[in-house]
Amino acid sequence: MPEYGNVVALAGGVGGAKLVQGLAAVHPNNQLSAIINTADDFRLYGLYISPDVDTVMYTLAGLANPATGWGIAGDTRATLDAIARYGEDPWFALGDQDFATHILRSHYLQEGATHTTTTARLAAALGIEAALLPMSDDPVATEILTADRWLGFQDYFVARRHNDDVLDVRFKSIEAATPTSEVLEAIASANLIIFCPSNPVVSIEPILAVPGIREALIAAAAPIVAVSPIIGGRALKGPADRMLASQGVEVSPLGVAEIYRGIIDGIVIDNADAALEAPLAERGLQVHVSQTIMGDRSDRGRLAQEILDVEWTRA
Ligand code: GDP
Ligand code: CA
Repeated sequence: MPEYGNVVALAGGVGGAKLVQGLAAVHPNNQLSAIINTADDFRLYGLYISPDVDTVMYTLAGLANPATGWGIAGDTRATLDAIARYGEDPWFALGDQDFATHILRSHYLQEGATHTTTTARLAAALGIEAALLPMSDDPVATEILTADRWLGFQDYFVARRHNDDVLDVRFKSIEAATPTSEVLEAIASANLIIFCPSNPVVSIEPILAVPGIREALIAAAAPIVAVSPIIGGRALKGPADRMLASQGVEVSPLGVAEIYRGIIDGIVIDNADAALEAPLAERGLQVHVSQTIMGDRSDRGRLAQEILDVEWTRA
């Protein structure tokens, strides 16, 4: 059985957090890093909110709301109700305990800390030993072109409930962003790199688009493996399936592999897509077929262990 030392996961929010939690359950946490999408970050009421970082952090801390996968279990909304009393329309759900995270993050950032050190401080306080690494300390913002106009990501995703057809996607300010030294070191010293089953277009692509990260991955010694978020022609949740279609790729693990072409060595697909094992192998990929829908914590650990049990090789 292979012994992977340093394991690095690339993750967005809910789908990514589930697998990172699985990895944290079965792998030494001081040898586990998650590089997390920050292109969903935005400001609200003067507070800096980093939804994907928070989702991974709450999940690893065992605080996440199991019903949604995001937010804090049992959180209340007195603050948001009080904000509504001032005449604001609270379109983005923020629980009272959740506010504490955004208040402190904004405070630390205002004192001059980076997103990376702020995240490390918050995560450590919640007892998390794995390294949670924002992809960059520089601001990057996903924007979505709809039939109407370009929308900010949260406007598209939350306010308009990802109902619009997505005509194009861009990452504002990406060309000026740099990867952090922590991210580059994690990639360079990795023994296995896993692309979590996150939205390929708006969770993983922004990470790959930070100048230097794609190149670092290609130069890495570690095998790189993607877990497909598309199962049986559909995303389990959210607009990943429609987004793949609008990018002109097949809504299947083949389309996922197409988006990650030239970077990944292997792919993990669901039993429902077992028929795609041969065509994926023809594309030069090592394929592992499994039950990839992650339910509870033990299920997440089971999938993580299975991935770590495969002898992945660098193409
Ligand atoms: P978001 O930032 O909260 O939207 O989350 P991500 O980008 O990390 O993940 C969204 C993707 O996760 C969707 O495309 C889902 O299909 C996928 N997903 C969620 N749960 C699972 C799961 O248990 N297994 C797999 N294979 N994919 C999942
Ligand atoms: Ca997200």
